[in-house]
Amino acid sequence: MVRRSRVDQGDARNTGGGLSLWRRILLRLSPRSDLAGGYIERHPSPGELTPGRFLAVRSGGIEKSACFRCPGGCGQKIMRALSPRRKPYWTVFFDWRGRPTVSPSVRQTNACVCHFWIKRGSVEWCRDTPKRSAER
Ligand SMILES: [Zn+2]
Repeated sequence: MVRRSRVDQGDARNTGGGLSLWRRILLRLSPRSDLAGGYIERHPSPGELTPGRFLAVRSGGIEKSACFRCPGGCGQKIMRALSPRRKPYWTVFFDWRGRPTVSPSVRQTNACVCHFWIKRGSVEWCRDTPKRSAER
């Protein structure tokens, strides 16, 4: 019988339980974040762009684009330009926990038709977003 070496699935659970008290307190104190991530040097592969990830492509010190999955329920990849030479373009700021703040707001024109701001990793829905997507 051939045994395949694979990562022990228990690992993920063990780390969860092994969170230090200090870290748990910090996580409890800070507001829940929908999105977190950081800078990456090239465009993320679909596998890297998991729900809840927010990645900003920066190469040669120049911010290119921001990539994340639509928080409105469809999970579609959203990409926005970060270069001032593009019109329109967005600005992204990450806090110490990698929670992004994006300006201006993001509007999805696909089936989701959602419209939101991202502030410190939290998705704040605009009034013109249909209830359907906000309920989720
Ligand atoms: Zn969507």
